[in-house]
Amino acid sequence: MSEPAIRPLLAGRRALVTGASSGIGFAVARTLAEAGAAVAVNYHSSREPAEKLVEEIRAAGGKAVAIGADVSEEAEAVRLVNETVAEFGGLDLLVSNSGIQKDAKLGEMTLKDWQAVIAVNLTGQFLCCREAVRAFRAGPDRPGHARASIVCMSSVHEIIPWAGHVNYAASKGGIHMMMQTLAQELAPERIRVNAVAPGAIRTPINKEAWGTDEALEKLLRLIPYGRIGEPADVARAVTWLLSDEAEYVTGTTLFVDGGMSLYPGFVDNG
Ligand code: NAD
Repeated sequence: MSEPAIRPLLAGRRALVTGASSGIGFAVARTLAEAGAAVAVNYHSSREPAEKLVEEIRAAGGKAVAIGADVSEEAEAVRLVNETVAEFGGLDLLVSNSGIQKDAKLGEMTLKDWQAVIAVNLTGQFLCCREAVRAFRAGPDRPGHARASIVCMSSVHEIIPWAGHVNYAASKGGIHMMMQTLAQELAPERIRVNAVAPGAIRTPINKEAWGTDEALEKLLRLIPYGRIGEPADVARAVTWLLSDEAEYVTGTTLFVDGGMSLYPGFVDNG
């Protein structure tokens, strides 16, 4: 077979995707592999879909490994990155994607549920970024290009307040400032750090928002583009941000939300 006319965007790069056994992380891991990256597919509780994805990537001629770890535990985040480096000989790309929701109005929200969401969504991303950057520093210089790149999975709720979800909104607001601070701190080392902020994407985390016709109709009122997002919409944006096509882009949040953050309530209002 002759060489493809366009070199895959991530050929030769080594990536870790957290929370990749379902939803957005699963689609991101698959898309990064299609773009030529070797991919570590992290899972938490569901091993089987991660193993299946790894088989699929290997069958297509790619490189992949499934690694179980709880990103909110320091020792596990350290092991996750170490095992990725041991498997691929280094690490160049991190998609810090794992996230959970435990929703309640303020009066009913337990400290346990507040802490659980912050632990996975914010502390877990901090731990994975820290360990990934330690691994990036051992990697080769790439004259003219970023040495390494991180995408933090944020949400439109890094800017849109969300009643009944204070733990989740606070975690994503925290991701925004963590991402920008790390981008500022790491730019001199040519490590790019960006975020992707999905709107409503069809995944298990928000099934109650799209699982019935009534719920979907209500949801669509918040989306000017007129359809729910799919994991592949997010995966393409992540792939671009990680690639050298996005050289010189750092500290930015890319909203992938069909216009959800454009104050859709104002469309026929004044
Ligand atoms: P999902 O529930 O399918 O995926 C979440 C993933 O995180 C799962 O694979 C789960 O196993 C993993 N995870 C949970 N706890 C973990 C832990 N302790 N350690 C490691 N992994 C853990 O939902 P999703 O929609 O694909 O969510 C992925 C990310 O996208 C999350 O950060 C979420 O906040 C964000 N997001 C989703 C939407 C949406 O509409 N679906 C919108 C905005 C942001």
